[in-house]
Amino acid sequence: MFQKILIANRGEIALRVLRACKELGIQTVVVHSTADSDAMHVRLADESVCIGPPPSRESYLNIHQIVAACEITGADAVHPGYGFLSENAKFADILAAHNITFIGPSGDHIRVMGDKIEAKRTAKRLGIPVVPGSDGAISEEKEAKRVAAEIGYPVIIKASAGGGGRGMKVAHTEADLEIALQTAKSEAGAAFGDDAVYIEKYLQKPRHIEVQVFGDGAGRGVHFGERDCSLQRRHQKVWEEANSPALNAEERSRIGGICARAIADLGYSGAGTIEFLYENGEFYFIEMNTRLQVEHPVTEAITGIDLVHEQIRVASGGGLSVKQEDIKFNGHAIECRINAEDPRTFTPSPGTITHFHTPGGLGIRVDSGVYSGYKIPPYYDSLIGKLIVHGRNRVECMMRLRRALDEFVVDGIKTTLPLFRDLVGNPDIANGDYDIHWLEKYLAKGE
Ligand code: ADP
Repeated sequence: MFQKILIANRGEIALRVLRACKELGIQTVVVHSTADSDAMHVRLADESVCIGPPPSRESYLNIHQIVAACEITGADAVHPGYGFLSENAKFADILAAHNITFIGPSGDHIRVMGDKIEAKRTAKRLGIPVVPGSDGAISEEKEAKRVAAEIGYPVIIKASAGGGGRGMKVAHTEADLEIALQTAKSEAGAAFGDDAVYIEKYLQKPRHIEVQVFGDGAGRGVHFGERDCSLQRRHQKVWEEANSPALNAEERSRIGGICARAIADLGYSGAGTIEFLYENGEFYFIEMNTRLQVEHPVTEAITGIDLVHEQIRVASGGGLSVKQEDIKFNGHAIECRINAEDPRTFTPSPGTITHFHTPGGLGIRVDSGVYSGYKIPPYYDSLIGKLIVHGRNRVECMMRLRRALDEFVVDGIKTTLPLFRDLVGNPDIANGDYDIHWLEKYLAKGE
């Protein structure tokens, strides 16, 4: 087991990882920018190293500074959290070259999944169902027309290097195709420095369902069921659930089994999430994230298994603590992402939190790095906390969520809490009846 882990992140996820390390008796080092000297993860860590000024590029993304911090403190492993360097293959390679363990998969696995065309090809080879579309990159209009005619309109053109929902264009007819192809290519080139694009069928009312997987790096793979993250705004997840209200146990074990086998065949190590669109009873792979996800706590709530403990165990060579048959799904869990944003316009609302009171009681978990008197710096993501609620079934979970949202107090800044108070009383949400476009339509109506 590791002696000392360096946490290369900030906010709630830095604290989340720090807690897991403390439970395992591992010393912790955190790195932080000058804007985060007062952060909770810095206060609670055994050691902290200031690695640069506020802009992420000069601190949380500064590989040299982070490696230097490992050397100075004698950390033998790095947990990257999510975002920042968590899916940076070069970072994983550099750490390996310094004999420091990256708590995540190999640089090569990160690289394959980071290129969407390559990821889709790999998924298909491993027996994972994919969205019908082109086999590789498309550059000619003629070729685009041929593929589109074959799969049928509407189609979506996506950037191979894409991320964060950018570089995607929908074409409803052949007449739209040329312009969609050209705009997607130029947007991709400008945003990612790589203009490779591909085409796939555009699904009209899908749900976003993702499977949590784990590999031990030695040919064993397991799945921890799925999460439904269909409630999205601008392709960003807002509310996540486990299990999905749309799947039954048989479908869960079928798609979970396919993913677990794929992970085993790939020889993958650590946590991963295989993301699908789900429509009319069919799953279509869209991408794989090779890291811990923001929404992992809903899976922890229904399985009772600490996924960060598992990541650390696997990375240290200790293997997974559970076999597939040990993983049981109990009850229902929902996570709400609480952002420091105006709940109507979603403009960021940094500033000082004058009062912060979190709900408690059975089935309630709040993961947050903020506190009363904390000043939110304007430089980073606006997520200030996650409320995770667990109940014996979805109805109990929703009742508890409504109560917890009533108890939650954040004064001094605007937050998205009022949005969740509205959503929890909405009949479609109560029935679990929503797709990936539901929230955008709801917000457009301004209810
Ligand atoms: P990114 O990495 O940029 O987030 P994804 O491939 O994960 O890109 O897609 C992001 C979102 O875009 C999906 O959650 C879905 O809302 C939409 N999307 C992607 N592919 C399709 C498709 N084939 N049909 C319909 N919507 C899609």
